[in-house]
Amino acid sequence: MAIVVGGGGACFALTAYTPQTAADHTHLLLENPYVMPTASGDQNGVIGYSRGWSSPRIPSHDLYGYRITDLESPYDKTTIVMISGNHNGEHSGNWALQGMMDFLAGEEPWAVQLRRYADFFIYPLVNPDGRFLGAGRGNPELTAAGLGSDHNRVWNRSGLSTIDTFTTAMKKDTGGAVDYFFDFHSTFFHANHYIVTVPELGDSPYLRELAAIAPDVEVVFSDGTPGMARLWSMSANGLHVEYAYTTEQHMLWEAADYLALGRTYGIALHNTLIPEPASMFLWLLCVPLLASKARA
Ligand SMILES: [Zn+2]
Repeated sequence: MAIVVGGGGACFALTAYTPQTAADHTHLLLENPYVMPTASGDQNGVIGYSRGWSSPRIPSHDLYGYRITDLESPYDKTTIVMISGNHNGEHSGNWALQGMMDFLAGEEPWAVQLRRYADFFIYPLVNPDGRFLGAGRGNPELTAAGLGSDHNRVWNRSGLSTIDTFTTAMKKDTGGAVDYFFDFHSTFFHANHYIVTVPELGDSPYLRELAAIAPDVEVVFSDGTPGMARLWSMSANGLHVEYAYTTEQHMLWEAADYLALGRTYGIALHNTLIPEPASMFLWLLCVPLLASKARA
């Protein structure tokens, strides 16, 4: 299914990332030996259920979470939480996150190393009722609770099916101490991708590494508001995160392009986290591989 969205006089067509897309991709990934349910989930990665609604009719959706890491690794790991789907029409954010997950679960040398040094906790669609609805940035449960119409302004609140489930799961799954938090969104009014973070993180290692391989991705500083997932993750009541970023993908590409962008985000993370000697070893490993590819 393709969606056509008009905004600011522009028109976008992109394969929709539906609640079913998230469910199907989660089921597929869980067959991978490096992907597993989190402590708060069942064997299918279901950590809870959304409220759903009667009018407009919205079915209750499974809420998913899963973990990607190499359990055999002897190294201390960086803990990373990633989410997407706060906002209803922002499909490119979900496609980019899916691309990053496919990369992390795959066999490219960067991913193999990254899984040894990092523990990823992924919650791929945090507002499935809103995504099912299509338009807007919230869902009926949010509005009925008197909490407005934006699912990314209520992460510091309680009493909502999705927010309660995800904030509780993230704390339980990670033990409450998280190093990095990424929230994948989309922008309808900007021709370039950009990453939002607080001004203090403007010179943070991840942004330096990303700029080195993806200079077209801009950086935007915003102190944000406390109810944003990014700011909640950094708070004492949240996940105590040191590095938190919101990625904003434009809506001008096809799904495959966003999957590739997700891989680039993953390689930048590898370059940020892997100690120099391991990177050097990887480089030495890659030289014969590249040479044999060139001969092929
Ligand atoms: Zn958004």
